[in-house]
Amino acid sequence: MQFDNVVCAFCGCDCDDISVTVENGRITQARNACVLGKTWFLSHSAPAHLPVARIEGKTASLEQGIEAAARYLAQSRYPLIYGLSSTSCEAQRKSVELAEVLGGCIDCCTSVCHGPSGMALQGVGEPTCTLGEVKNRADLVIYWGSNPAESHPRHMTRYAVTPKGMFVPEGRKGRTVVLVDVRRTPSARTADIFLQIRPGKDFEALWALQALANGRELDKAGAAEIGLTLEQLNDLADRMMHCKFGVLFVGQGLTQTRGKHFNTSAAFLLVRALNRHAKFALMPMRGHGNVAGVDNVLAWQTGYPFGVNFSMGYPRFNPGEYTVVDVLSRGEADAALIVASDPAASLPGKAARRLAEIPTITLDAHESETTKIAKVAFATATAGIHAEGTVYRMDNIPIRLRKVLPSNYPSDEEVLSLLLARVKELKAC
Ligand code: SF4
Repeated sequence: MQFDNVVCAFCGCDCDDISVTVENGRITQARNACVLGKTWFLSHSAPAHLPVARIEGKTASLEQGIEAAARYLAQSRYPLIYGLSSTSCEAQRKSVELAEVLGGCIDCCTSVCHGPSGMALQGVGEPTCTLGEVKNRADLVIYWGSNPAESHPRHMTRYAVTPKGMFVPEGRKGRTVVLVDVRRTPSARTADIFLQIRPGKDFEALWALQALANGRELDKAGAAEIGLTLEQLNDLADRMMHCKFGVLFVGQGLTQTRGKHFNTSAAFLLVRALNRHAKFALMPMRGHGNVAGVDNVLAWQTGYPFGVNFSMGYPRFNPGEYTVVDVLSRGEADAALIVASDPAASLPGKAARRLAEIPTITLDAHESETTKIAKVAFATATAGIHAEGTVYRMDNIPIRLRKVLPSNYPSDEEVLSLLLARVKELKAC
């Protein structure tokens, strides 16, 4: 059986043109998907052999798992809900409600990737566009601190560089592609111009370009400190000011290096300054398939995109205080609910160790380092393979996921709904 126009929900590109072949209950092909997408589809193709719930490693029924997990959460004083970037918006919405009922913290993978972009967005405003506009209009495409050839393999071919667009009929030939990074990555092969700046000098480089866009002059020594020549900086600023439609894609090379939200604020301010000369937009290169979705869900329900605390009964936002690494490594969280994420394998040691000390509950389709230390582990259906749902692409366009395989497991949304109902009973809400 073949399913066309299936969405790959592995990375923030959320490509929706995948043709999936299912034979004997397994996915055997995922045409159009890149190597990462193919691996994602095929890795979910084999039937999982995990029990639907495990309590301290022992097989349990779904009802027993819900009861145990609800009691751990209801008894905790400062629970943390984390992950959520690889599940559906419907499950994310339930998680926000659960965090509010519990009076705990809710955070998502944004806080360890594009949190600084969210902070710059709230501080400066976001001059952005859709990937459709990029495809149809962009004649100058700049990747800064991002390596799409390896992280988002179809970004260049499907959206930003090679496709022919309404106002870019020549496709690749009609666009100039610039890569700015501290090292030469495989993406440099596609770029017309590669600018290698010195590590930790992103803020200075962006500020210098903003100065040029504002009509200031720079000296050679300042440019040299950034790692570029004055000619290179002037040339890039000139291209930015004289393009028809420019777009700046920013990656974690900007958000997770020295300067963090100062870097992203400088990028947003640069784009604001450029809009006095040309049409220009900025877009964060979001990593996980629905990390943009969880920012949207949190923002529309609480006003804040990540790191939200409900312990006062209303939402509060303070990155560095209510974000996952801080809440765990300071030993504040006394229970954790992890949805579709593996923080035990990815967070700094102190934060990861805290997860093993407290009752941790997981919802995941696969066994992971976090499910291994969980007090209660639920095996769930994967959104986009075994369950429908909504995701947001990196340009904040909502896309509906399709179900291509049957599953005996409940979806994240179903488990969270049961958990929420039982926690409400226990807390007599
Ligand atoms: S680019 Fe991303 S969304 Fe598209 S097929 Fe590859 S992994 Fe999937």
